[in-house]
Amino acid sequence: MRKISQSRKLRNVRYDVRGPILVEAQRLEAEGHKILKLNIGNPAPFGFEAPEAIVADMVHNLPDAQGYSDSRGIYSARTAVAQYYQSRGLKDTAVEDVFIGNGVSEMISMVLTAFLDDGNEILVPAPDYPLWTGAVSLSGGTPVHYRCDEDNGWMPDLEDIESKITENTHGLVIINPNNPTGAVYSKEMVAKLVDIARRHDLVVFADEIYEKILFDDAVHHHAAAAAGNDVLCLTFSGLSKAYRVCGYRAGWVMVSGPKELAEDFLEGLTLLSNMRMCANVPAQHAIQTALGGYQSINELIVPGGRFYEQAMLADRLLNEIPGVTSVRPRGALYCFPRLDPEVYPIDDDEQFVIELLRAKKILVTHGTGFNWFAPDHFRLVTLPDVDVLEEAIGRIAEFLATRR
Ligand code: PLP
Repeated sequence: MRKISQSRKLRNVRYDVRGPILVEAQRLEAEGHKILKLNIGNPAPFGFEAPEAIVADMVHNLPDAQGYSDSRGIYSARTAVAQYYQSRGLKDTAVEDVFIGNGVSEMISMVLTAFLDDGNEILVPAPDYPLWTGAVSLSGGTPVHYRCDEDNGWMPDLEDIESKITENTHGLVIINPNNPTGAVYSKEMVAKLVDIARRHDLVVFADEIYEKILFDDAVHHHAAAAAGNDVLCLTFSGLSKAYRVCGYRAGWVMVSGPKELAEDFLEGLTLLSNMRMCANVPAQHAIQTALGGYQSINELIVPGGRFYEQAMLADRLLNEIPGVTSVRPRGALYCFPRLDPEVYPIDDDEQFVIELLRAKKILVTHGTGFNWFAPDHFRLVTLPDVDVLEEAIGRIAEFLATRR
């Protein structure tokens, strides 16, 4: 039989968070080493439990969740999502505007497949959550990266965005709160981004999965969809992070704005939903409970709460390492520190991460894995308890001391 190769469609597709660095970590584990994996934002292995009501809901509904559901999602979940956005001030959202998926991940891929023609350009932030770049490429599109400015709290560089718009540009991706930088955008920033989309006739893709993980009293989340009903906006969110159930695979996309202009696209999205039957039905039952009930996430993000304390500790300890600077995260689950190239000249940051892993048995993700332009950053997940984080960052500091 002939040799079987991967399809050419995958030629430009990367997802380094689970790429060669993880393969190396698994190889070391097979040799008997204990690896602290700080490469994936998955709360459960770090002792975070889902709200009891969500688990109870899944269990309670298991007997009735054996069949396929409506491919766009069960009615109660879609209504709950529509009402959730209504409660955030979007008065026109309705059940027909919501599609439920196996996590936000599936909806990102499905939406881009339904939306993009070959060669269409989509503006994606750099750094980004790399599924966006990968899924644009896989759908035949061209990701064009706009710079987020580290010296300005990782805010999107609006001039850079404008300068990269061509007649081929069809959409603008906004990740807010941002993974990997932890930036949270002000109302004015969100309005300016949506205004760019308005002026250039772009669709907004707003990944807001960390919308409830905000560290500062002063920080509020401003949904892109609320910044103008005249721009087609696809808002993505789900249960993985705020409700700590990454494994249940429950996410959604909500369509807002001039939907009447998007009927054909929405038919395409419905077709793709139909072709994959439906999302995991037991997890869909938990969506209404999650959105409607007591929001235990609010205990984790304030001083004294684990998400808050861990993020602040990681930020402080990273900034204490000579030659390392890190912008304080205002939300999400990550720090994205910079290694001063004068102090740490690094040519290949993936190799750097592998060397750290081999030497100190800690796995972080290299910055270029988030489509950052230079090999001078890495992302650290701030999910471990403070003691473990202290130990982990101590080991990173020791490793860096050998590289100065
Ligand atoms: N979007 C962002 C910004 C993420 O960080 C993640 C997961 O880390 C996802 C989407 C995917 O989430 P889900 O578990 O809902 O597929």
